[in-house]
Amino acid sequence: MFPFDYRRPAALAEAIAAHGGGGDVRYLAGGQSLVPALKLGLAQPSVLLDIARLPELRRIRAEGPTLVVGAAVTHAAMAEAVVAIPALAMLAGGIGDLQVRNMGTPGGALANNDPACDHAAGVLGLGAVIRTDRREIAAADFFLGMFETALEPGELIVEIVYSLPRRAGYAKVRNPASGYPVVGVFVAETGDGVRVAVTGAGATAFRLPEFEAALAADFSPLALAGLEVSPDDLNRDLHASHDYRAHLIGVLAGRAVADARR
Ligand SMILES: Cc1cc2nc3c(=O)[nH]c(=O)nc-3n(C[C@H](O)[C@H](O)[C@H](O)COP(=O)(O)OP(=O)(O)OC[C@H]3O[C@@H](n4cnc5c(N)ncnc54)[C@H](O)[C@@H]3O)c2cc1C
Repeated sequence: MFPFDYRRPAALAEAIAAHGGGGDVRYLAGGQSLVPALKLGLAQPSVLLDIARLPELRRIRAEGPTLVVGAAVTHAAMAEAVVAIPALAMLAGGIGDLQVRNMGTPGGALANNDPACDHAAGVLGLGAVIRTDRREIAAADFFLGMFETALEPGELIVEIVYSLPRRAGYAKVRNPASGYPVVGVFVAETGDGVRVAVTGAGATAFRLPEFEAALAADFSPLALAGLEVSPDDLNRDLHASHDYRAHLIGVLAGRAVADARR
């Protein structure tokens, strides 16, 4: 390890002012991705700003027809408290193991944008808005590529605003070692139509317009029969081939719809 300053600001405004936008300063949430990166020397900030206990980032509240989840709410707290969107609670409750869920946060997970991020499927599937200290970013505009997002240097995710769906479901095949989805599919029927979002299969989460059109006509697993996903741009690694991931997308989309219909 290399030397760095550790600071724990007492308030959100203090944290934002302390960051100042420089690349040498990093926010620390649960440390589930950042601490391993520090240990490996992949990140070498001179200052860590611990935002995990900031009360402004730890709230879950209703706001009109939306549910607002603070960026530093833990996955475990989401799994217990997000009763308005059961599929989202299930998604959070299926992340990693108990230790990861007790420390990891949706803000850290989205900012990190691992290609197998469960929350990426949730925000894309629900058409959520990522509210930062500077602006609101639609989920559709947030994920730019593998480990790459629309966040600017020093930009802090404050909360995530989820529109309440009519019904939604999530299904994933877990990597047996980490819990990360080999593939995960989130399906939501909303006031704006049906959304199908996939994680774990590509460089970043993506939607499936063909599946969405089929489910808009008939929100049933049977509506997906015969639909196929091209494996060409999908991930292939030691866990799964791109062909297998393409197959899983169809199977898991059907399971997510069945989950939503329960
Ligand atoms: C063993 C293991 C298993 C896991 N399994 C899964 C899984 O099944 N599914 C899954 O989706 N994830 C999984 N994860 C990832 C986990 O969900 C964490 O949420 C993720 O690693 C991010 O960690 P964190 O929230 O602690 O953020 P940190 O590690 O503290 O931060 C990660 C990055 O985000 C930045 N950041 C943090 N908060 C904010 C914010 N509010 N605004 C802007 N930038 C911010 C930090 O500066 C850093 O660059 C796993 C992790 C581990 C270690």
